[in-house]
Amino acid sequence: MLLEVRDLHVEFRTRDGIAHAVNGVTYGVDAGETLAVLGESGSGKSVTAQAVMGILDIPPARIGGGQVLFRGTDLLTLKEEQRRRIRGARMAMIFQDALSALNPVLTVGDQIGELFTVHRGMSRKDARARAVELMDRVRIPAAARRVRDYPHQFSGGMRQRVMIAMALALEPDLIIADEPTTALDVTVQAQVMDLLAELRHAHGMGLILITHDLGVVADVADRIAVMYAGRIVESAPVHDLYRAPAHPYTRGLLDSVPRLDHKGRQLRVVRGLPPNPRSLPPGCAFHPRCPLAREVCRTDVPPLYEVSETRASACHFWRECLDGRAGA
Ligand code: SF4
Ligand code: MG
Repeated sequence: MLLEVRDLHVEFRTRDGIAHAVNGVTYGVDAGETLAVLGESGSGKSVTAQAVMGILDIPPARIGGGQVLFRGTDLLTLKEEQRRRIRGARMAMIFQDALSALNPVLTVGDQIGELFTVHRGMSRKDARARAVELMDRVRIPAAARRVRDYPHQFSGGMRQRVMIAMALALEPDLIIADEPTTALDVTVQAQVMDLLAELRHAHGMGLILITHDLGVVADVADRIAVMYAGRIVESAPVHDLYRAPAHPYTRGLLDSVPRLDHKGRQLRVVRGLPPNPRSLPPGCAFHPRCPLAREVCRTDVPPLYEVSETRASACHFWRECLDGRAGA
């Protein structure tokens, strides 16, 4: 396994108490595989990714336990210097907001090129040539000319391609993309997703795709891990999950009516609100919103039950859910 997160806990000290953002997340991704991590905002999917990358703000964040195994080495036990080296060359992250992730006063050519001068000791001229190659590979038209442009001179979709080019530059083993297309319109979203999928395939990388939108990942993901209140509640191969979810929350996401928000993006809404991470409901954190909830759900935290060799569900009544008795 390329990356294995085991029983990860992350909490934040806030003025109103301790927020349990990640409560025992376990997931893994293999080389050449795409794992989609799906959840509403505040479900802990980004915080988990930041802990994997080693870019959490510590404090206020605190790793409460668990392991992040990268090719078998627990990253949480490494010194910051060692982590920085891995982060630079072997894992890369793509963020939702490329404009704030890029340096506004450097040309994109200099930003991509810097990776080669710093990490590979290349001359500026060679680094510039590599930058043009990469921009070509992510299909930025007229790359040889555009390499001299600044981030604000690119459209949102093209800026996201610049981010992808930077992530690919050092040929990492793992890319984590956190809502990489959320800020883009629907057609550009599809193009960027297709590009990521194609590059992942061509380079044999592992890809973790974080999203709140089931529709975006259906065609590109191999597996889906659904997060709720800082835990994985269901994990399954993408087609199995679509065919028959084994957790009422996943079923809710699939059944809920797509709505357009003010930017024309599709949102799927499950009735009720996600819980406050400072005061999670006892038992199954989903019980206040769950159509299948009964007494045991209010007291006993469901473990991640093995549904099959490739599937798991954190629901006491996953069998009923699989049978389609979750009631929408
Ligand atoms: Fe619903 Fe109970 Fe399953 Fe939680 S454990 S998802 S409350 S049925
Ligand atoms: Mg997020």
